[in-house]
Amino acid sequence: MELASLEKQMLAEVNVDEPWKLVEKFATLVRLSGSREEKEAVEYLTSRLEALGIRFTVYEPELYISWPLSAQVTSLGLQEQVFPAKAPSFSVSGTVEGELVYVPRAHARGTEEFFAIGVEARGPAVQGKVVVTDGLALPKGVRDLEEAGAAAQIYVNPHPELIHEGIISPIWGSPGWEDLPHRARSLVVNVSATTGEVLKRLAAQEGARVRVETRLDERWRKCPIVVAEVRGNQDPDEFVLVHGHLDSWHYGVGDNAVGNAALLELARVFHKFRSHLRRTLRLAWWSGHSHGRYAGSTWYADTFALDLVENCVAQSNIDSVGCRWATNFDEVMWMSEAADLCADVIRHLTGQQAHGVRPLRAGDYSFNNLGLTAFYMLLSNIPEDVRRKKGFYAVGGCGGNSDAWHTERDTLEVADPEILVRDIRVYVATLLRVLNSGVYPFDFRATVAEIRGHIERYAQAAGARFDFTPSLEEVDRLARAVEQLWTVGRRLDASTDRERQKRCNRVLRELARWLVPLNYVRRERFWHDPALEVPPVPALAAAERLACVDAGDPTANFIQVDLRRGQNHVVWTLRQARRAVEEFLREVEPA
Ligand SMILES: [Zn+2]
Repeated sequence: MELASLEKQMLAEVNVDEPWKLVEKFATLVRLSGSREEKEAVEYLTSRLEALGIRFTVYEPELYISWPLSAQVTSLGLQEQVFPAKAPSFSVSGTVEGELVYVPRAHARGTEEFFAIGVEARGPAVQGKVVVTDGLALPKGVRDLEEAGAAAQIYVNPHPELIHEGIISPIWGSPGWEDLPHRARSLVVNVSATTGEVLKRLAAQEGARVRVETRLDERWRKCPIVVAEVRGNQDPDEFVLVHGHLDSWHYGVGDNAVGNAALLELARVFHKFRSHLRRTLRLAWWSGHSHGRYAGSTWYADTFALDLVENCVAQSNIDSVGCRWATNFDEVMWMSEAADLCADVIRHLTGQQAHGVRPLRAGDYSFNNLGLTAFYMLLSNIPEDVRRKKGFYAVGGCGGNSDAWHTERDTLEVADPEILVRDIRVYVATLLRVLNSGVYPFDFRATVAEIRGHIERYAQAAGARFDFTPSLEEVDRLARAVEQLWTVGRRLDASTDRERQKRCNRVLRELARWLVPLNYVRRERFWHDPALEVPPVPALAAAERLACVDAGDPTANFIQVDLRRGQNHVVWTLRQARRAVEEFLREVEPA
């Protein structure tokens, strides 16, 4: 069947019945990673897959998981007062008593800043003290205060009553032996703004002391991972991976029962039209996201790394879709090569001009190191003016509903069945276009232009102190090759030359294998960077530091050493990418 009419039929097939039943079921289950209630959720999900006749596998790997059990803060002195608190996953368990000091901290202005924002504090003012600061406990701030020598950390959440759950481990996935030294070593809690006001007043008094207590259960746990597959017919070895996390904080309806429901509906609809699919759709529901720092998707990336590197066309994440009031598409994550595809689908289905953002080092984007093209994570969001009216502040899910995200209030009314169906349709159309197009609809001209922009920015920052000409020349050579590839690709896409289409697609996968790590990853291919922000083209990012170094400061020499090595990496990687493209071009258009 022709792509456009197949798309139309599949979009018409999407409805709320199957997904909403799952949402209602999951809304009764607190799905801690590896818990009994999560298992019950898996039983529901697999019973539906079975009933629909969809093939699936349940894996049960051991993942490293931290469940918070209890926490509190007590003011010491003549009148002891106890305040409720929550420990984030991977806080240290125990008791710390100490002098209380307040360190103010800026709030994140939006999702883009949310995971990146740190805490500025140094010296004896914080060393050995219990530090109370603003915002949510996240790895970056925790690391900053750890390095400053704080004895314990209290984060004052913006809401007067609600306290957010969270996770502070900077290690991506279950830690390897070599990651262990980088574990969070601090005792950390979140408190409400009301508690925070009292603590800040207390901190203003000379010698005020508090006790912070936490109890967590940290261990290796068997956790479920469900993987279903709808096999393609012409190129079944090539697959698109679409996935989301199964575990939750509290009832986790907006984060992420809706995503689990969306995945089930995708499975149902694609299975129904399976005889028309060219490539394979693989769907995955991960445990270990919230309490194991993406440990499920990371386990999968590690366990099936070679299959993913060889055959995966792209990965797409589903988290916190279909939330109430989330009518906008102005913070949609995608990689540059998928920008036109995603924007076109969203325009086509909603009439909106979507705004893309660079995928954050967060969510289950556990595949950047393998070099997979990726699109979507949180998808739709609540418009800025509505958020302001409701007093919402920046959070990492639930469409931007900060009352619900990682709190007891993430219940059924956080989801919206109509918005859920609309979001599922966006996934259906985007995935179908990748699964069934002759040549993948990925435009690497945009990726190369993006990378060039980053190199230029670094060159400007470094000025005369470092010569970026080799990187710029090499990226321009690649741009020319990719321009030709685009022309050939469009022609092949319109043709019936299956063999050449397949060859072209292999080159597109190879481009992603080189360029995604170049743009998003610091470590080597089969290792994972920490859950801390990675600057674009990280091998050259030291250039920005050069701009802050005075003339004659030997720091500049150290940075230049880094940049010489980084530039070798960049030029060599761009060259490998170009050679792959040129080899293909010679084959299809011999001189
Ligand atoms: Zn989530």
